[in-house]
Formats: sequence, C-alpha cells, structure tokens
Amino acid sequence: MRIKDIALAPSGRDKIEWVKSYTPVLSIIEKEFKDTKPFAGKKITMSIHLEAKTAYLAEILKAGGAEVSITGCNPLSTQDDVAAALAVAGLEVNAVHGATMKEYEDDLIAALSVCPDLIIDDGGDLIGLLHSSCAEYGKNLIGGCEETTTGIHRLKAREAAGALNYPMMDINDADCKHLFDNRYGTGQSVFDAIMHETNLIVAGKRVVIAGYGWCGKGAAMRAKGLGAIVYVTEIDPVKAIEAVMDGFIVLPMDKAAEVGDLFITLTGCKDVITKKHLEKMKDGVLLANAGHFDVEINKNDLEALAVSVAQRKPCVTGYTLADGRILNLLAEGRLVNLAAGNGHPAEIMDMSFALQAKGLEYLAKYGKTLDNKVYDVPRELDIEVARLKARAMNAELDVLTPEQEAYLAAAE
Ligand code: NAD
Ligand code: SAH
Repeated sequence: MRIKDIALAPSGRDKIEWVKSYTPVLSIIEKEFKDTKPFAGKKITMSIHLEAKTAYLAEILKAGGAEVSITGCNPLSTQDDVAAALAVAGLEVNAVHGATMKEYEDDLIAALSVCPDLIIDDGGDLIGLLHSSCAEYGKNLIGGCEETTTGIHRLKAREAAGALNYPMMDINDADCKHLFDNRYGTGQSVFDAIMHETNLIVAGKRVVIAGYGWCGKGAAMRAKGLGAIVYVTEIDPVKAIEAVMDGFIVLPMDKAAEVGDLFITLTGCKDVITKKHLEKMKDGVLLANAGHFDVEINKNDLEALAVSVAQRKPCVTGYTLADGRILNLLAEGRLVNLAAGNGHPAEIMDMSFALQAKGLEYLAKYGKTLDNKVYDVPRELDIEVARLKARAMNAELDVLTPEQEAYLAAAE
C-alpha cells in the first residue's frame, strides 16, 4: 500500500458517492455483479486515472468478487483523497499525486505484484511491464482491457510483431466509448480544466485544435460553442474536409502558430508544436495538450527558447522568451483535462466503464479460449450498454416490425 494520507478518505468517499448518483449503467452492473460474482477468486490490477469514477469501477469489480489492486496511469491525475477512500474500502492501492517517474513505475510494479488474472490498462503501461521487467507477474494473466487510442495503437503494433502475450480487449473502439468519451468527454473536460485553471475567456479567442479525430472534433465543437474562432491542423485529408465542412479553417501549424491564442493538441503524435512554431507565437498564448503523452508540445524546445521559467498559477508554467513574450504551458503538457481537472464527466465514464466491466466479465468467462490478439468488444455488449444508457437518458426508441426487419434484410 502506498497512498498519501489515509485521513483524506472522507473527502474521497464523498466524491465517489457523488459519481454514483450520475452513473446509472454502472449502478445496474453493480447490482448484477453482486448477484453473479463474475470475478470470484480472481485478482484484477487496474492502472487508470485514479479519480472518483475509476474508484467506482474498482468497487464494482470488488462487488463482483475480485480482489482489486489499483494504481494511476498518470502521476498528475491521481487524487489522493480518492486513493485513501479506496484503501479504507479494502482495495490494494499504490498511487500518490505528483509521484516522480520512478515512484510511478514502482507503483505500477507493486500493483502488478499480486499476479493478476485480469488487468485494466490505460495507455499500455501495465502491458509494457508484463512484456519486459515484470513478465513473472503475468503467470496467472487471462487477459485485459485497454482504454485509450494510443494504448490500442501500441497493442496492435505488438500484435503485428507477434509479440503480444495475452488477449486484450479494445475498449476504445467500441461505439459507446470513443463516440462519447473521446468526443463529448474530451470536448467538455478540456475546456472545463482550461477555463478553471486560467480564469480566462474563450469567446473571441483564436483556438487552434491540432488533430481532428474523435477528441479534436469534440474540442473544436465546444470551442465553437463557447464563441471561439476555431482553426484546425490535420495530416489526414478526409479529416481536413470534415473540419472544413464543420465550419473550421484548416491550416498547417506553421501558419496557425502566428494566429492562435490558445493551442490544444489532440493528435497522439509527437512534435506537433516545436521550436519553429513557438518562435512565431504571440505573447500570452496558452499551450495545452489533451493527447496521450506529453510529447505533442515539445517541452525541450520551450525550455531551450526560454530565458526564464516561472510557475504563474498552479497548473500554468510561463516561459519567457528573450524578447519578453511569455508562452504559457498548461499542466506540464500532460493531458490537461486530467492533470488540471477531474477528467471526463460521470455520465460519460458511465459508458466507458460499463464497457470495461462487461469486457472483463467476458474475459473472465472466455479469455482462456482466446488467442493473443487485440479483440473488439463483442457487438452485443456495446449494444447492451447503449440500450441501458439510452433508457437512462429517456431516449425512447422505435422497434422494427417483423415486416420492416425482413425489408431491411432483403437482397432486393
Ligand atoms: P484519432 O486517431 O481519432 O485522432 C487523431 C487525429 O490526429 C487524426 O485525425 C490524425 O490524422 C491527426 N494527427 C496525427 N498526427 C498529427 C499531426 N502531427 N498534426 C495534426 N494532426 C495529426 O484519436 P483520438 O481518439 O482523437 O485520440 C487522440 C489522442 O488523445 C490519443 O493520444 C488518445 O489516446 C488521447 N485521448 C485523450 C483523452 C483525454 O481524456 N484527454 C481521451 C481519449 C483519448
Ligand atoms: N497514460 C496516459 C493516459 C491516457 S488518458 C497518461 O499519460 O495520462 C486518456 C483516457 O483517459 C481516455 O481514453 C479516457 O477514457 C480516460 N479518462 C478521461 N476522463 C477520465 C476520468 N474522469 N476517469 C478515468 N479515466 C478518464
């Protein structure tokens, strides 16, 4: 066990109880798991942003019979009070906000040292260790679920190289995940964090969105709704057309660098903003990343250009250039919505984590029959989560008549 302070537990418990009121699908799954105990006798290791929604997922897995060992997937998104509440609830917790990279890795290793039957990974840190220095902790592993786009890219690269040792389920590409989490979740939580941390207005600002994938679409949509003038940078011509038809100006970062007031990178790529862009930027610009790693805005270039660096607000670092301009980096270039905010709203994580819970249940049942590949979430599970969520949102559906079904299925 490694947490900041057990005395913080009451505040963490309040946060978890708040979340439970707004996650109807997870509440249904919790009731079901209490009866069916799909994880009886199983150990589950989780590495995912350790905040209140994740905590609720962890408790649901415990209610389903699992022994749960949990750590974060980003040292800045761990909430110490939530970690304490989970420790009080009897979970094995190894996570502290602001951990050094060494401590962070030690926590991942400690979380894995229980030799789990199943894992939940967000970005591939656990799976990376299980394929290298912690291979022995994989001796009981049936498989696991991966949460995010970049983690899936890495798993698929491993699979293509014939070097994936366990079946893994791709949560990100289920409809009930990326269509809502990456788009609406990122869209809202990125602005929630930026506005709260900077206390600046978005209306009238020139906002540059780098990457028009699911996350970028959500962020651009919300920027527009808040009254910003929105620019998009892309490398994919199809996404560029989508952005233009959605009403945005598409231009290369070389040009966007000169006009933007607020830059948000959401590409999953590296070096999206580098020295040549930073040199052209206006005084006072805000630089934020919401993509997986802190490599989208090149921090080495920022440091090399700066004559001085100062912490201007808790999550804002100001880099002063030789001519006096200040470029402001938010949340150390890490995912701004999680490092400087609470991440996606509860109603969104309700779906992402319902898929995680159902995905793990599936793996517990059938994982031993699967190959060492990346699997899509079975369609029926995705649809089940969608039906439960639609019902909870009072979206009333029509039902096909047998004649309509036959008509839609007909060859002519
Ligand atoms: P995606 O594949 O749908 O979109 C990425 C887009 O970026 C693509 O359209 C791609 O063409 C574009 N792109 C790639 N390199 C680029 C470059 N150099 N310049 C401009 N555009 C470029 O992926 P996504 O689901 O939108 O996820 C994007 C990143 O955000 C991933 O790293 C993912 O793991 C992460 N993510 C973050 C959160 C969050 O809460 N902050 C949520 C989900 C995903
Ligand atoms: N290891 C990475 C994590 C990538 S985060 C890092 O260095 O930070 C991207 C994922 O975070 C998304 O796929 C999304 O599902 C998840 N996420 C967003 N808000 C969250 C929240 N409130 N709680 C838990 N996970 C969240």
